[in-house]
Amino acid sequence: MQFKGEIVKAVDRVADELVATSHFLHQHPELAYEERAAAQRLTALLKGRGFEVIEGAGGLPTAFLARAGVERPSATIAFLAEYDALPSLGHACGHNLIAAGSIGAALAIQPFLARLGGQVQVIGCPAEERGGGKIALVKAGLFAGVDAALLVHPSNKNEIFKCALAMRALQVEFFGKSSHAAAAPHLGINALDAVLLSFSNLNALRQQLRGDARIHGIITDGGRAPNIIPDYAAARFYIRALDLDYLHDLHRRVVTCLEAAAQATGARVVIHDEGEEYHPMRFNRALGRLFQTNLEALGEQVEQTPEDQELGSTDVGNVSQVVPTIQPTIALTGRPEVVCHTVAFAKAAGGPAGDRALLLAAKTLAMTALDLFADPACLQRVRKEFDQA
Ligand SMILES: [Zn+2]
Ligand SMILES: [Zn+2]
Repeated sequence: MQFKGEIVKAVDRVADELVATSHFLHQHPELAYEERAAAQRLTALLKGRGFEVIEGAGGLPTAFLARAGVERPSATIAFLAEYDALPSLGHACGHNLIAAGSIGAALAIQPFLARLGGQVQVIGCPAEERGGGKIALVKAGLFAGVDAALLVHPSNKNEIFKCALAMRALQVEFFGKSSHAAAAPHLGINALDAVLLSFSNLNALRQQLRGDARIHGIITDGGRAPNIIPDYAAARFYIRALDLDYLHDLHRRVVTCLEAAAQATGARVVIHDEGEEYHPMRFNRALGRLFQTNLEALGEQVEQTPEDQELGSTDVGNVSQVVPTIQPTIALTGRPEVVCHTVAFAKAAGGPAGDRALLLAAKTLAMTALDLFADPACLQRVRKEFDQA
């Protein structure tokens, strides 16, 4: 296609600005829902390039919707930006690259939108790592009218299709009764024991689970001093599975484990849902194949790996349930042992490996959007697959 060479050059022309943006985010890591500097920087860049920007989109202060193109578009393609970081690890998930890559794709395709009769959006999605900002954006209707949603996540491999585990997060609090741990233990109710029994119960449950299920947690409060029976203790757990039915089944069984721990110790239990339910990824093979062809045209190889293994969860799954969506991954380093959420990955995301990955992502995303804008049959295939799923 004649425009594709121009699209690649268009990314190269803005490469310095994209890399500077990525580095800024990397040097100013912000946690979920606190991404004020990131949102400010990204929206300023897009406004400066003539995008119409709605800040605080969907009622989330650090979300945004930026759009460019014609009034009544024949197609609307959204590139999703993520920009939250991880506690203590900074940008160890490389979301600085997701933001810069998606914006790069939008800037590259922008000059062609009048000719193509299309609209491009950058949807700024906060809080991927905790809370699931996209779930609120889906509920707010931000994806209505979007024909396809795309983003590239950095990873240790080039992969097009990867399942995502549905997930629920919960917090549990146990309320007991403090007492002197040596002089009057018989007067106390040990809330920490309830937390420890919760872990024991869940460990026993785990043996009976399907291979795709995951239950894991941390203790967030375990008491104040060894000589005080803890009157309060708390923990957080994530529950994951490949489908929602099994997830809901597991959630019920986890709650039973926690309630049993309360009963055994005499503590009172309060269970809170944390954030929204993450949904599994709904594949769009037609859209993914377009991306793959473009990635290979840029000289990259795609790995054929099991789609249902080495999985995490993402709020992109919720987007994929309402609009055709892909989230392929691009290898950040040449080393498969460098995986997300590690110090090594964070370091690479802020250096030359990250710069390369984000420019490659921007080019491939823009080329894929071009396919959808320029060839109505492409978009029809994508839509048909989504409607039939
Ligand atoms: Zn992550
Ligand atoms: Zn991530």
